[in-house]
Amino acid sequence: MSVRALFAKAQGSAIRELGLLAQEPDMVSLAGGMPDPALLPLAPVREAYARALASDNPSVLQYGPTDGLPACKEAIAGFLATHLGPHGPEDWVITTGSQQGIDLAARTLLDAGDTVAVEAHAYPAALQAFRFCEARIAGVAADEQGMLPQALADLAGRQRVKAIYLVPTYGNPTGALMGTQRRIELLKAAASAGAVLIEDDPYRCLGFDEAAAPPTLHQLNEEHRLGAQVVYLTSFSKTIAPALRVGALLAPPALRRAVVLAKQAADIHSGLVDQGVLVQLLRGDWLAGHLAALRRHYATKGQALHAALQTHAADLMSWQPPRGGMFIWGTLRGKAPAGTDWKALFREHRVLFVPGREFSADGSDAGHLRLSFAHPSVERLHTGAQRLARVLRQALRTA
Ligand code: PMP
Repeated sequence: MSVRALFAKAQGSAIRELGLLAQEPDMVSLAGGMPDPALLPLAPVREAYARALASDNPSVLQYGPTDGLPACKEAIAGFLATHLGPHGPEDWVITTGSQQGIDLAARTLLDAGDTVAVEAHAYPAALQAFRFCEARIAGVAADEQGMLPQALADLAGRQRVKAIYLVPTYGNPTGALMGTQRRIELLKAAASAGAVLIEDDPYRCLGFDEAAAPPTLHQLNEEHRLGAQVVYLTSFSKTIAPALRVGALLAPPALRRAVVLAKQAADIHSGLVDQGVLVQLLRGDWLAGHLAALRRHYATKGQALHAALQTHAADLMSWQPPRGGMFIWGTLRGKAPAGTDWKALFREHRVLFVPGREFSADGSDAGHLRLSFAHPSVERLHTGAQRLARVLRQALRTA
């Protein structure tokens, strides 16, 4: 299919569209995945820009290497060493957000018609990147820990699986945290299928209990010598600021080289000033204190939404209490009819959330929804839960 035909078929991001509704008066948005503005570190970032641009050497404004500033890669390798093991700057590629990491990994791994396995409910912008490669997207059954290894093995028994995409740590949309044993089993299934595992990890540092997150798939794969190929993606959008657009990709050498070639064609390199700013912010102990504050703050909000849902919506849906990240995944105790006009209900009741169909590869889901607790205040989360219950009552009544 031509690129033009692909664009004609593509749907825009429903979540971005809901973002427009969020601007309407008295709307409580549980829809977006945006960080709480109160936690965006304006003063430290302003100072970091000043320091990054303080040198009299104009090369800070020059073109730079496609794979990123060595100092930035070194700082990221140091920051993530406890989660990934020791890596040098040569193992990394700096990307324009982790979204570009997903896109470049998809382009280098997937030809038209290739199968990529995702969880039954997956991050929509990753699905979009896979669609632009004309990949076949196979939704694999998952439970409260994420993808089921046996279901992956069954799929791989029926057809060749080229890649597997996972957000195993406080996932988007489900918030699920995958345990260590599940990670090991999935790595074994990926290795025996000969499929590359893409580990998308933007929420790792947002665990309410810092120690709760198991090791990365990347680290387990190396430590246990499981023989899978893992592409690891990180991002500073949720921990510092999405506007920085700095993420990073760690991959085995041949894959990394292919990603660098694809990146040359995409944008030559990610912004060097932003990379310099990240180096400044990763130096010293500012980030550790900032992350501790983020964890406390999001834990308070996650618990507030959980409690408000218990009060208002327990008869309408079930969910797991959040342990980190930004999301609660609701399973409806009934099905909303296929043609439910969610937008009209959102307008009427002044609340937004994302219906489950946005996360399923074929758009067929009618029994789930994603709620984000990151952006509204605790008080607005309570109001939002109350209004959500009204929307669900109305939607399920017409079912
Ligand atoms: N992956 C996941 C699972 C996400 O939730 C997001 C942001 N919503 C991204 C990737 C993209 O993040 P970035 O800003 O780093 O491109």
